[in-house]
Order: sequence, then structure tokens, then C-alpha cells
Amino acid sequence: MRYNGVGTLVRVLIVEDEPTLSRQLSHALGGAGYATDAAADGDRADFLVRTESYDAIVLDLGLPHVDGLTLLAAWRSAGIATPILVLTARSSWHEKVQGIDGGADDYMAKPFRIEEVLARLRALIRRASGHTQALLIAGPVALDPRNGRVTLQDEAVKLTSHEFRVLAYLMHHQDRVVSGGELVEHIYAQDSDRESNTVEVFIGRLRRKLGASFIRTVRGMGYQISP
Ligand code: CA
Repeated sequence: MRYNGVGTLVRVLIVEDEPTLSRQLSHALGGAGYATDAAADGDRADFLVRTESYDAIVLDLGLPHVDGLTLLAAWRSAGIATPILVLTARSSWHEKVQGIDGGADDYMAKPFRIEEVLARLRALIRRASGHTQALLIAGPVALDPRNGRVTLQDEAVKLTSHEFRVLAYLMHHQDRVVSGGELVEHIYAQDSDRESNTVEVFIGRLRRKLGASFIRTVRGMGYQISP
């Protein structure tokens, strides 16, 4: 059995409408020690995610009732920060960009090897639970790594999962300047496309949400939470 950092069994939700593939995933994840639930359509997935607690979600994009990208956007805007591995039938550039914007943590294009799904899930779960558990505070901003909550002067701030990871990393290392490359290493899963220019996008969004001067740019070096 696999357990998370606080001693409970690691639970994974599989959202896939193709019965054979869903069974294969359930079987492989169960064999690797995870507790799994399965949803075969968007409505069921949405219900489970909002009523249960998962450590990770495997999300197919083409689904009956509500498609995966719509679900992803709805969950992230509701503050649900669970790591999500997206399965896409087409390795479409457009879909991938939409997924990144919507807050997916990693991708696999079909067909894929189950072993690779397992490896990527392990990495996602490890990264999500690997941070220290203390509340992080920088000036008016507080970030709680245990529940993914961020507040600005005690008011809740909604962040996408990538924005959250950038902020959490900068707040963990607020004593020094962090380079764009280092941020990229920490926000994207291994082997997924790493594009350092997307870091600037996340920094820009964080400044809009938390105040323009909250994160400073140190020319030629990177970023730092303003002291
Ligand atoms: Ca499908």
C-alpha cells in the first residue's frame, strides 16, 4: 500500500470513458498500491472530486457530458489543487497549451505505456507532498502548503496550480534570488516540455493577484520575493 505524508492511503481518481483503458489503469494503479476510484463521464468525475479527497487525478480530455478541459478549469478556479495528469488522444499542441493554462500538471498522449503513467503519477504525488508542511509568510501574503490556500491580507487568493507552485518555491527561498530555469525545474514534471518563457507569464499573473511589487525581477539573475 502507498501512503501519503500524513499516513493515509494514497487515493487516485481515474477519469476515463473507455472501459478497457479505465480497467487497465485501475488494475495497474491498484497493483502499485494505490486506492483508486473510477469515473466514466464528466458529471461523475466532478461529483467525486468535489465530495471526496484525492492525492492525484488521471484525467482523459474527451469525455461524455463535460469534457476534461472544462472540468480542469472549473476545479482550479474552485481552488482544488490536486495534481492532475492529463490523458490526451491527440498530442495536439493547441490542447496542450489549453491544458497548461487550465492547470494540468503533466500530460500523456495516447497510446501510452502504463509503466510511464505510474512513473509520472509517482513524480506528481511526490512533488505535491514533498514540501515542508509549515505555513509560509512573506509580508502580507501567507501560503499553506497543506491545503494549497493563499491569502493576501487575510483575503483568500485563487491561484492556478502552476502559479501556486511558483509562489510556493519563491516563498520557500525568499532569502535569495531564484533563476527562471530553477523555477521551471520545480514546476514541471520530469520529461514534460519545459519552456522557461512560461515562468514570466506565471510571475506576471502572481503580480496582478498579489501586488506588482511583491515579486521583484533581478536583471539577468531571476526573481525574489521583495524583502
Ligand atoms: Ca475519451
